[in-house]
Amino acid sequence: MSDHTKVLIIGAGPAGYTAAIYAARANLKPIQLLGPQPGGQLTITTDVENYPGFKDVIQGPWLMEQMHAQAAHVGTDMRYESVINVDFSKRPFSVTSDTPTSYTADTVIIATGAQAKWLGLESETYFRGYGVSGCATCDGFFFKDKNVAVIGGGNSAVEEAIYLTNHCAHVTLIHRRDSLRAEKIAQDRLFKNPKVSVIWDTAVEEFLGVDKPFRSLTGLKLKNLKTNAISEHKFDGAFVAIGHSPMNEPFKDCLACDTEGYIITTAGSTATSVSGVFAAGDVQDKIFRQAVTAAGQGCMAALEAEKLLSH
Ligand code: NDP
Repeated sequence: MSDHTKVLIIGAGPAGYTAAIYAARANLKPIQLLGPQPGGQLTITTDVENYPGFKDVIQGPWLMEQMHAQAAHVGTDMRYESVINVDFSKRPFSVTSDTPTSYTADTVIIATGAQAKWLGLESETYFRGYGVSGCATCDGFFFKDKNVAVIGGGNSAVEEAIYLTNHCAHVTLIHRRDSLRAEKIAQDRLFKNPKVSVIWDTAVEEFLGVDKPFRSLTGLKLKNLKTNAISEHKFDGAFVAIGHSPMNEPFKDCLACDTEGYIITTAGSTATSVSGVFAAGDVQDKIFRQAVTAAGQGCMAALEAEKLLSH
């Protein structure tokens, strides 16, 4: 069985839902394939305070439910399917999912997002959302005047550490080597900041915490990788910033991607290397990675698809 659509939207985070809202309201009757984790990264966060339009704290999963409901309300045909194969070499484009239905589409909007990388420790999963976070911009505010750690040595870790000094009493950067990967200018800013200290050559062995009166992180067990010495340090929060991976399967072989796998789009546009295929949100953005920027890019993608179709 094959269904044809003018606009096929793949993914269901802020970018995908916003693209769906705009495409549906332009009467393009989009089909949206929601993928394995409808709602995306916001479904694994809790409090959201920086999405415009809400004075009070809202919950990430709730925000995504609202976007889903809005996209459905304006007429998006939503399907709980994941894409397993695409052919962008001929028109219309063809897409197969993990169901017997396949699709042909005049335009495709890829909004599959990215995944934060985690260290993979059991204790990290246990305290995620209870003191362990993957996003300083999202959660830093909750650690006002507290003592936090940032794990990683790239631009994200350094930027997050500097950002956190706006809120926190002290920030400790923990890096597994004795030099940072981050750009020199960012390193200089970090080292000059009196609220930051760095623990070098060190890996996290365990996230420590308590269950009562409520589940919360209390510190980190660290291992010096040169001496193997183990030490315990008190922290109120820990931010894991060891990189993100774009969800670029199965597109990476048909579209131009950068060395880290992010889909390349034209500056100021969501156009990819294949005309008629657009990419929005974290699958193509490694700099901003915010729900609101992803939503903006989803809007751009739908408007660009509409423009192309009308020509
Ligand atoms: P990066 O891949 O650049 O850095 C990841 C860091 O985490 C590295 O220091 C790495 O250590 C460390 N790391 C990776 N895996 C582990 C692990 N298992 N345990 C401990 N440490 C680990 O990721 P970023 O998210 O920092 O940046 C991604 C891209 O986005 C880069 O190109 C970056 O320049 C860009 N970016 C740009 C920004 C800007 O321009 N404003 C802001 C943020 C990101 P090691 O160094 O030893 O490999």
